[in-house]
Amino acid sequence: MIYENFKKYQSQIKHGEISLLKTVEDFLERIEEHKDLNVFLEVYADEAIADAKVIEEKIKNGRGGKLAGMVIGIKDVLAYKNHGLQAGSKILDGFKSQFTATAVQRLIDEDAIIIGRQNCDEFAMGSSNENSAFGPVKNFADKTRVPGGSSGGSAVAVQAGLCHASIGTDTGGSVRQPAGFCGVVGLKPSYSRISRWGLAAYASSFDCVGPIAGSVADVALLLEVMAGQDQFDSTVYPHPTEQFSEFSGEKKVYKIGYFKEALESEGLDNEVKTLTEQRLQALKNVGHELVPLSFPKLKYLLPTYYILTMAEASSNLNRYDGIRFGHRSNAGKNLEELYKKSRGEGFGKEVKRRIMLGTFILSADYYDAYYTKAQKVRSIIKAETEAFFEKVDFIVSPTTPTPAFKIGENGGEDPLQMFLADIFTVHANVVGLPAISVPNGITESGLPVGFQILGADFSEKKLLEFASEII
Ligand code: GLN
Repeated sequence: MIYENFKKYQSQIKHGEISLLKTVEDFLERIEEHKDLNVFLEVYADEAIADAKVIEEKIKNGRGGKLAGMVIGIKDVLAYKNHGLQAGSKILDGFKSQFTATAVQRLIDEDAIIIGRQNCDEFAMGSSNENSAFGPVKNFADKTRVPGGSSGGSAVAVQAGLCHASIGTDTGGSVRQPAGFCGVVGLKPSYSRISRWGLAAYASSFDCVGPIAGSVADVALLLEVMAGQDQFDSTVYPHPTEQFSEFSGEKKVYKIGYFKEALESEGLDNEVKTLTEQRLQALKNVGHELVPLSFPKLKYLLPTYYILTMAEASSNLNRYDGIRFGHRSNAGKNLEELYKKSRGEGFGKEVKRRIMLGTFILSADYYDAYYTKAQKVRSIIKAETEAFFEKVDFIVSPTTPTPAFKIGENGGEDPLQMFLADIFTVHANVVGLPAISVPNGITESGLPVGFQILGADFSEKKLLEFASEII
C-alpha cells in the first residue's frame, strides 16, 4: 500500500482513529516480511518505537510538529548522528556519522520518525541500484526488475508500503528515475534549495536532496520542511521558504512545452511513448496549450553530464584514502601502496571507472578538451533552457525512455546502455532547475511509467501545484 495523504493520516492519529505506535509496528513487520526486496541496510526498530510513543502523545496534545507521525527512511548517503553511513560502499564499512545532515535534522525537528537507512548505488552512481555493495534492490511491481537508481531502496520503500516517505538524492535523476520505475512521486528541487550539509558528495554542482512519497502533497510538505538557508552550507538559496504544501486549488491554464526530439528519440519504448502522448492529450483536453519545442542539443546532455560529474566525483572521492576516511588495507608497505590498496579494495567497479575517467578528464593534457568544453556546453544549454521558459511554463517528457529493465540486463560491459536511462532526467541537473516525476499509468505487463515536469528556476510552488492537478 502506497501512503498518499499524510495530513489526513495525522489528523486521524490526533482523533484517536489510528495509532501511531501500531503504524510503526506494522511498518517494521512489513519490512521484515519483504526483506527479499533488499531495501533497508539498517532498521532503527527500537528508536522508531520509542519515538512513536512520545510523538503520538505530542500529536494528541496538539504539540506535534508538521511531520509528527511521518515515518521516513533515508538514503544511505545522508548523515544521521551515531548511525551507520556507507553510501552503499564497502569502503565505509563500520563508519558512523558524527553529526546529522541538515535535511534530516529538519525532519526530526518536525517530529518525523526515522525508521532506517536505505540501500542505493555506491556513492549514488548508477541507474539501477545494481552498483550497491549490498546487492540490488528489487522492484515491488516485478521482482525480476530493477527499481531504478541510485535511490532505488528509497523508491521501493514507498512503493511497497514500508514507510510513509523517503529522502533520496538526485544528481542526474536518482530521485525521479526510481520514482518513475516504481510508480511513486519524486521531486528534485532547484539546485541549492536544500542544504547539502551531511550529504556524502558525488558531484557537488549537481547534487540535490529530494523527497519521494506517494503524493505530490506529501513531497511538497517534505520540501517545505527541508528547504531554506543553513549556516553549514553557504550555497543554499537565500530567500525565505514558501508554503509549498498549501495548494490554492485554482485551475490555471498553462503553456506546456515538450521536445520533439525527446518524443521521437530512437530508444523510446512504444508503450512509454503512447502513455506520454495520452497524457499530453489529456492536458490539452482540460485547456492547457501544448507547445512543441525543438532542442537539438538534447544529445549533448548526457556527455556533458557524465564528463562533469565524473570530474567532480574524482575530486570528491579523494577523501576515502584509508587515512582520513574509509577502509584501510593491511597490505600496503608504504604510503602510496596503502592508498592504492585501500581504495582498490574498498571501491566497487563503477566507482573506480568514474574516478579513473574523472581523473583523466581533469589531467593537464585533456582538461580543456573535456572539462572546459563541457562547462561551456553547460552554460549554453542553461541559456537555451532559460529562453524556453520565456515561452512556456513547463517542459514535460517521459521520466525515462523505458519502464524498469530486468536485473542484469544493462549491467554488461557497455556502461553507455545504462547511462541512456538518464537521458530525460539529467537536463534538470545540468541546468539546476526543479523537476518532478509523477506516475503516468502502467504498461500492459504492469510496470509503472513516470511523467516528468521540468519547471523554471525556483518555481517549485507552481510546479507542485500543477503536478497535483495531474494525480
Ligand atoms: N544515474 C545517474 C548516474 O549514474 C544519476 C545518479 C544520481 O542522480 N545520483 O550518475
